[in-house]
Formats: sequence, C-alpha cells, structure tokens
Amino acid sequence: MLAVLVIEDEPAYVDAIDTALGREGFDVSSAADGKSGLAAFRELRPDVVLLDLMLPGLAGLDVLRRIRAESEIPVIVVSAKDAESDVVAALELGADDYLTKPYSLRELIARIRAATRRGVSLDTADEVLTVGEAVLDSGRYRLRLGGDSFDLPRKEFEVLQRLMTRVGRVVTRSELLDDVWGHTYGDSKTLDQHIRRLRRKLEQVPGAPVITTVRGVGYRLEEPDAG
Ligand code: CA
Repeated sequence: MLAVLVIEDEPAYVDAIDTALGREGFDVSSAADGKSGLAAFRELRPDVVLLDLMLPGLAGLDVLRRIRAESEIPVIVVSAKDAESDVVAALELGADDYLTKPYSLRELIARIRAATRRGVSLDTADEVLTVGEAVLDSGRYRLRLGGDSFDLPRKEFEVLQRLMTRVGRVVTRSELLDDVWGHTYGDSKTLDQHIRRLRRKLEQVPGAPVITTVRGVGYRLEEPDAG
C-alpha cells in the first residue's frame, strides 16, 4: 500500500484528498502546518509527499528544502494559481511535480502514480534507458525507436537523457540549460530547437513517450499510456 503524506492547511482539501486517495487504496496521513508536516515525514517515512507551498509557520519551500536534505522521496508541490515563481523555485529545490489549485482529484491521483511509478528501466552495466518504445543507449549516444535507430547529436542526447531519467516528472528549462549547456552557453532558443528535433523523432513511432510542455516552467516526458 502506497503511503501518502499530505501537508495542507485547508481542511476542505484534506478531506477531499483523504476520501479520494483512500478509495484508490492509498494510506493517507495529513499534517496542517509545515512544522508538524516535517515531523510526520520523519516519523512515518511515506512513499510520497503532497506539499502545499502556502502553509502557516514553516513555509512550504522550507519544508521541501529540509525533506530534500534527508531524502529523495517523491514530492509533489501544490501552489496557488498565480504563484508560478514558487513552482519554479520548488522544482529547482528538487520537487518532482506540481499541481495548481484548484486541481482535480483525478489529476492528483495521476500525478501521484507518475511520481511513484518505476517507469524507467535502467541497466547500469550497459547504460541503457528504456521508456515505452524508446531505448537510449548512453554508450553510443543512440536512440532506438521501434525499428528505427538514430545517432543523436551530443546535446540532443543529453536533453533526452535528463527527461528519460525523470519520466512523468517536470524538468525545468533552467535545469536543462544549466545541466546540458552550462551557465555560460545556456540559450533558451537552442533548447527549443533541441526539443523540437526530439519530438519529430518520437512522434514517428507509436508507443514512444511524448515530450509535453509545462507552460512557463519546463518539460515533462510522458509515457505513452500515461494519458
Ligand atoms: Ca495553504
């Protein structure tokens, strides 16, 4: 049973989440402020944390920072509608995904499943990443897609590799720019072009993962069956 810790100060949200996730067979615990949320996290060691960013007392970003100092557990943050900068900050602190209020419970469940799914098979000996029909061979910078095979340019390979290792989760534009190009050369238009080229390849093959744009934030690689 998947244990979910909900750190949220609005009782209406907590009740709705508790009912919906309970029905899906999740084991739900909750805390109404940052400090008790952190204590609950340490005590319960849940499988995933749903963290509201606007909390009384210890702010959500501080809770996230402290969780990340101790654990790589999936964290999904929840923000108010107009707090895009908070979302970017949270993703850069290591949050896996985010939802904006008001969100649908169906979407919440899909995000929790994506964040906890072991969708990537990583064969470390051969350095091969597999997501759906896409197989990325790190030793050769090669992408196999169904029956096709592409030798990827280095940067294109590195962008796809980062998306594939975090399938179902948001990767921010600035993370990609920093990781792949470095601070000095990071150019936003270059990133767009690389994403476009990767999409063109992926779109040719049914069953390949899809790169979706997360507006104002970054990209998410979705498994073909993730909806
Ligand atoms: Ca709140």
